[in-house]
Amino acid sequence: MEIRIGDIVRLRKKHPCGGDQWQVLSFGVDVKIKCFTCQRLVLLDRGVFERRVKDAVLRGDASASPAAD
Ligand SMILES: [Zn+2]
Repeated sequence: MEIRIGDIVRLRKKHPCGGDQWQVLSFGVDVKIKCFTCQRLVLLDRGVFERRVKDAVLRGDASASPAAD
């Protein structure tokens, strides 16, 4: 699956807050994602991230991404 910055993805593992949707903030060797429910930032190894992604909820697009902060 091709992941782009701004994408909203669903992970197999839920955050302790109960949320399972995350917004991709940066994508490189490490992937920085933000929990959509509690806004907590998490940094994951790219390989770990790719294994945990279940599906993309919303494809990121500069013009369509939700206003950040
Ligand atoms: Zn959370």
